[in-house]
Amino acid sequence: MTGCPPGPTAKVPSVRAEPDCIFCGVVAGEISSTTMAQSERAIAFMDINPVTPGHALVVPRSHATDLFDITADDLAACVHLAQQIAERAKERLGADGINLLNCNGEAAWQTVLHFHIHVIPRFKDQPGKDCIGLPWDSVPSNLDEIERIGNLLS
Ligand code: 5GP
Ligand code: ZN
Repeated sequence: MTGCPPGPTAKVPSVRAEPDCIFCGVVAGEISSTTMAQSERAIAFMDINPVTPGHALVVPRSHATDLFDITADDLAACVHLAQQIAERAKERLGADGINLLNCNGEAAWQTVLHFHIHVIPRFKDQPGKDCIGLPWDSVPSNLDEIERIGNLLS
């Protein structure tokens, strides 16, 4: 099918845009960004405040506030693009590892209310490049409580 124009039954995703959304502005090209990759449903660009060199963001073209708002197809497209950027960061930037981070809601540190996945290259033993620490300590587990909550989620 490569090279064929979309037929009358081809499903072209409709793009929802919110007027005051920064990332909708990036998607529309109204806010400048360094864009590295894009697909029909998603776009990857550099974070303006990188926590490590190569810190990127992947967003759906169509506005969705968060994980609870995004469609399954847009979510899959974002994850796919995040994987591509992660591979490039390993190959081209020499990253030793990658963190994917997605924040949903103020309590989970979300500041921009357009779904996004952070792709954060990690550099081992390079404090000048990477001084991110784990945000939590391991706590001793209570197996009954873990099982009780697991059952709530089952
Ligand atoms: P959050 O805190 O919502 O998980 O992440 C929002 C991210 O968006 C932050 O890392 C912040 O640096 C980035 N950001 C905020 N405004 C802009 C912008 O105008 N352009 C780009 N490229 N990134 C932005
Ligand atoms: Zn938006």
